[in-house]
Amino acid sequence: MERTIGVLTSGGDAPGMNAAIRSVVRSAIKKGFRVIGVRRGYNGLINGDLIEMDMRSVSNILQRGGTMLYTARCDEFRYEEGLQRAKKTCEENGIEGIVVIGGDGSFRGAADLSARGVKCVGIPGTIDNDIQCSEYTIGYDTAMNTAMEMVDKIRDTAESHYRCSVVEVMGRHAGHIALNCGIACGATFILVPEVPYSIDAIVEKMKMTQKIGKHHFIILVAEGIGNVNELAKEIERLTGIESRATILGHVQRGGSPTVRDRVIASQMAHYAVDLLEKGVGNRVVGMQKNEVVDFDIQEALRMKKPFDTNLYQIAHDISF
Ligand code: ADP
Repeated sequence: MERTIGVLTSGGDAPGMNAAIRSVVRSAIKKGFRVIGVRRGYNGLINGDLIEMDMRSVSNILQRGGTMLYTARCDEFRYEEGLQRAKKTCEENGIEGIVVIGGDGSFRGAADLSARGVKCVGIPGTIDNDIQCSEYTIGYDTAMNTAMEMVDKIRDTAESHYRCSVVEVMGRHAGHIALNCGIACGATFILVPEVPYSIDAIVEKMKMTQKIGKHHFIILVAEGIGNVNELAKEIERLTGIESRATILGHVQRGGSPTVRDRVIASQMAHYAVDLLEKGVGNRVVGMQKNEVVDFDIQEALRMKKPFDTNLYQIAHDISF
């Protein structure tokens, strides 16, 4: 009998998810599987919103941001009734395993469904790079490059007006985008949730660099830090330098994925299908030392990813 697997995207979208869907579909069909696309994350499993996938159904999506299967959050899936309805959909359609592309929350759901007999393999898809078991998450590179381009544009106008621009990038709990983008854009100061900061230190650095001829400033702030409008006002009050806040927001989630995101998404998805072929579930695929590896979901959720304090120090050492 033909074996069947499903694929879904869940939680926040990220550029490169389409590349992962394409790779799941094509790798699995090549191995002789039937593949079903599940729309709108776990909602699609609960409500039976499914589409039959074939080699051509994933044509022309590789270069597109977003996700062709759509994504959503699904509260019902946190409860037994929702999980049982999802399980029933899988049984009715002969789905033995599912590749779940998403973040930590989606992996928790994948673990719950695995425990009820549907083998699930997670792939890290989130622009924040905040998945502990993986050095890299799908969408991160594209988001950083988009943020960098935007900050470069803001810098042009900040420079023309001798202003300070306080720019908020995404990252509620993780400062990876802020740190890398801060270095790439020559930020005077970078604020991330992982490192405590004081407004006095920012003001002191601005004044010191002003004394050696600097006229415009970029302060790069991760979303989790707080209100950037208030921060800009406070900086202006304490330095006398006109300061403006910009929140980049969802622009960072969209756009055509970079080479890196497309390639890593394709690799991870291919690996996930290999696991399902072996009959292995309750796993998360990750990247460690540039190798694709996999972990037990519970173990993956307990792991800790260190913040790159060395890179953070470098950023501050060279921003003058
Ligand atoms: P992300 O996957 O990006 O971290 P969320 O945390 O919003 O995004 O989770 C996405 C979805 O995963 C949720 O809407 C829910 O359907 C499911 N989910 C999250 N946490 C759990 C949980 N503890 N148990 C079961 N399902 C969960």
